[in-house]
Amino acid sequence: MERNEGRGRVALVTGGASGIGLAIAGVLAGRGWRTVIADVDAERARAVAGPIGAEAVPFDVVDEAATEAAFAEIEGRIGPVEALIANAGLIQPGGLPEDLPMAEFDRIVAVNLRGVYVSCLAAGTRMAKRGRGGIVITGSVTAWRTAPLHAYAPTKAAVVHMAACLAAEWGRSGVRVNAVSPGYVATPPLQAAIDRGQRDPRLLTDAAALGRLVAPDEIGHGVAFLLSDDAAAITGINLPVDAGWLAGAHLTTYGGVRPAR
Ligand code: NAD
Repeated sequence: MERNEGRGRVALVTGGASGIGLAIAGVLAGRGWRTVIADVDAERARAVAGPIGAEAVPFDVVDEAATEAAFAEIEGRIGPVEALIANAGLIQPGGLPEDLPMAEFDRIVAVNLRGVYVSCLAAGTRMAKRGRGGIVITGSVTAWRTAPLHAYAPTKAAVVHMAACLAAEWGRSGVRVNAVSPGYVATPPLQAAIDRGQRDPRLLTDAAALGRLVAPDEIGHGVAFLLSDDAAAITGINLPVDAGWLAGAHLTTYGGVRPAR
């Protein structure tokens, strides 16, 4: 189906140079958004933007001054940011809390929680003044369920709550804020963990009702929906796009998700 929901409006995707962010950027560009890729990895952002019809404006979401400068540049040169996808995040290998150095805890909190807030603040303040805009924060199914990811999972629960708090704050100013929570997606960091033998792909898919991983573009379609007029009455929610992992995970207590019949 031909779609032009973006109508040439500017959508900024943080962490857009890889994995889920790159897929979101590609889906939005394909639906008529003028898509800007932000990433701390400037070289990769520039390399991936052109082929999907996007532009690169690299910056570090943890750095408030760099974020403000990037927004000023984008709004001056390209146009008002009407959609922000606050997606940049660090994935953590599973482990024991007593083995997690506090410096690593702080690094993950800085990007996954503080960095999301800094981007939302830069975008949402401008959107609220203009009376329109949409923000989607990338959460995770670990926002709902426990995982041995003692920095990562709490940051994801926090940003999902942040989406609801900001939705309540900016709703009357025409800004909708939602979260999208991926299940397991074989992006470079997860694939690397599988390749190192740290994650068993069968266990990742067994718990999902649909019995498979999520494709990166499927997260992009969830984001596109939340930004679209079809979701005009939806704000403050957390949309799982997880191949039914949340629905199926608890069935391990009953011997697992049943096979097709
Ligand atoms: P990825 O590593 O492929 O992509 C993350 C991108 O964020 C990278 O390009 C990286 O350079 C960028 N980034 C990191 N720190 C940054 C910073 N300070 N400023 C700007 N950019 C920065 O990982 P991914 O799997 O695509 O993860 C993307 C998001 O999806 C993350 O928020 C992650 O927590 C979330 N997520 C992933 C999965 C999964 O299964 N892969 C599941 C649930 C949620």
